[in-house]
Amino acid sequence: LVVLEGVNKWFGDLHVLKDINQTIHRGEVVVVIGPSGSGKSTLCRAINRLETIQEGTITLDGQPLPDEGKQLAALRAEVGMVFQSFNLFAHKTILENVTLGPIKVRGKAKAEAEARAKELLDRVGVGHQAAKYPAQLSGGQQQRVAIARALAMDPKVMLFDEPTSALDPEMIKEVLDVMVDLAKQGMTMIVVTHEMGFARTAADRVLFMADGAVVEENTPEEFFTNPQSDRAQDFLSKIL
Ligand code: ATP
Ligand code: MG
Repeated sequence: LVVLEGVNKWFGDLHVLKDINQTIHRGEVVVVIGPSGSGKSTLCRAINRLETIQEGTITLDGQPLPDEGKQLAALRAEVGMVFQSFNLFAHKTILENVTLGPIKVRGKAKAEAEARAKELLDRVGVGHQAAKYPAQLSGGQQQRVAIARALAMDPKVMLFDEPTSALDPEMIKEVLDVMVDLAKQGMTMIVVTHEMGFARTAADRVLFMADGAVVEENTPEEFFTNPQSDRAQDFLSKIL
């Protein structure tokens, strides 16, 4: 579904993505882990075209990523993204946050968008909060709204960049539960996270990145119990 071939990116002299070749299949859940600065966020942002790449190609469902204009907006709609900070519109209600994209980008009728938004908000457990504003919700609730908002666009793939790392411990599980559910329902997901519990239960594959390169890839069982590279062993010894 998502194919990266020979992807290279530099920030000035800094080579941040080094020859990334990866195929993410439909329904696959890929967890990306690695030390700070290894290029995990940049990889996600490249897939969503929030960053341009200097070399290589990224295709979604066989289509190359467009550079700009209408096609880019269409691409963004196909790739749902959830960030560490929830990025909700502060001056819009929860319901409006979720219906805005479908109405503006997808051209859905308001009533239809609202019905679908309510269904999604129920699914992530915040249906009763629809009339509130983001600041009136807890961090965990806001992040679940952010997930519902991304899902409202009917994306082909969901990218998560450390979705729980800004949350208090008691709220992490409620967000991870929503993500595990999504994985079970067959959503294609690329998830940057250090939540090993999530990786073990939901991931089909773990990519370990260091210095801009994918150094190791394996099933979660193999990766966590038997990391091959020194970098991965060193990293795991620090976080586990
Ligand atoms: P973290 O775990 O801290 O989130 P990461 O693996 O997501 O790290 P990236 O954010 O992708 O790492 O950053 C990769 C490298 O690129 C880092 O060295 C970072 O300093 C650098 N970098 C990121 N964004 C920019 C930018 N806009 N301009 C210049 N350098 C950048
Ligand atoms: Mg990052």
